[in-house]
Amino acid sequence: MSVPDVDALPAHVWPGSARRLPDGSIEIGGVSLRRLAEEVGTPVYVLDESDVRRRAADFRVAFGEAFAAIGATCDVYYAGKAFLSTAFARWMLEEGLRLDVCSGGELAVAERAGFPGELIGMHGNNKSVAEIEAAVAYGVGRIVVDSFEEIERITDAARRHGVVVPVMLRVKTGVEAHTHEFIATAHEDQKFGFSLDQGQVAQATQQVLDRPDALRLLGFHSHIGSQIFETDGFAEAARRLVSLQLQVAREHGTTLPELDLGGGFGIAYLAGDTPLPVRKMAEGLAEIVRAACADAGTPVPRISVEPGRAIVGPAGVTLYEVGSVKPVQATDQLVRTYVSVDGGMSDNPRPVLYDADYTCALAGRSSDAPPVLARVVGKHCESGDIVVRDVELAGDVQAGDLLAVPATGAYCRSLSSTYNHVPRPPVVAVRDGQVRTLIRRETIADILALEGDS
Ligand SMILES: *Cc1c(COP(=O)(O)O)cnc(C)c1O
Repeated sequence: MSVPDVDALPAHVWPGSARRLPDGSIEIGGVSLRRLAEEVGTPVYVLDESDVRRRAADFRVAFGEAFAAIGATCDVYYAGKAFLSTAFARWMLEEGLRLDVCSGGELAVAERAGFPGELIGMHGNNKSVAEIEAAVAYGVGRIVVDSFEEIERITDAARRHGVVVPVMLRVKTGVEAHTHEFIATAHEDQKFGFSLDQGQVAQATQQVLDRPDALRLLGFHSHIGSQIFETDGFAEAARRLVSLQLQVAREHGTTLPELDLGGGFGIAYLAGDTPLPVRKMAEGLAEIVRAACADAGTPVPRISVEPGRAIVGPAGVTLYEVGSVKPVQATDQLVRTYVSVDGGMSDNPRPVLYDADYTCALAGRSSDAPPVLARVVGKHCESGDIVVRDVELAGDVQAGDLLAVPATGAYCRSLSSTYNHVPRPPVVAVRDGQVRTLIRRETIADILALEGDS
């Protein structure tokens, strides 16, 4: 058995600019993580700005070119729920992406960033009256409708503002994708979208088309899952959507100009993960849509996709400091080294929520010590508070060491909490040796300030 290289930084898991400096510390965006820890403390989320921008541009170019090749257009909406701040929204705009928001809070960030309304899509299965009002007032380019109640609410807001709101209908295609597998069943038992089988799609379509003074139906939307590595799931969903769209258009003697295939493009969390490269994914989807439209005898509509994780996930790492190291006799044969860091499930709940796996590496130094089997755990009062379930770490790992966990750019800060009254870490962008704060560190004073009179 070969000895694992615990100092390695596999390029598909770590941010584009990550490398080890001669002193053994990791550098990202020209900034040594050791220096960064001294300057801003730990834990801290670190985003490689150039890497984020490159991934965003890659999506725009790859999907743009792949769909241009079949005579169509493809818009890329960044799914803001993966990570959002005002500066980040501006990066997306500068890289030519549009933006998906799914709450009034995310919309407020977009507005603050000056993101043009017509380039924003609004999602959510239970948008409030206030959220719809804010979206219509800001002139968002589309609202993806998820319920009959919402058709009423959007109609009301549109009439009050004297505008026609472009909408899409979210459809349960019955396709569910997860990582390598997809199941094409009549799986209906989840909250999102209108059901095809129960005739809800037809009914919602009718209601929208009956209100031309308030609503304009762009087409259908489907989002089939997350961490998808192959095109199969999209293929099945696209076939169903295209035939549905054609059928509805014929029945109503209209055309539906757009089709949204959602997000869910997978990334590598571990060295063994092999998602399709963006260009391959784009070409695969374009071919699927072309074939589905050719079969149905319909022109290719304007397509959109909504990547979140694939744009920001791989560009981020979380930097922690080790506080204690404890060998534990896990079984008769196995000693596991528990390494406790100064964060945990509050800054990354994905291991607890989804059994998500991560890897990590010593960030402040390299080491020649023989590796040990380690489990990196947080500081919270739950035994499930795991950061990295299994990882080979240098056997001399000790209190005061820095640990970096890669692929934490998506769904870590955005899902974070202040469990145990642990304030949330800051998010800093690194680029060309410069450090810029996107979100400052929360303080205990921030948390106490939320309390009423005591
Ligand atoms: C979550 C979500 C996305 C983004 O998913 P990723 O896995 O981050 O690409 C896109 N569209 C919708 C509707 C979503 O709910």
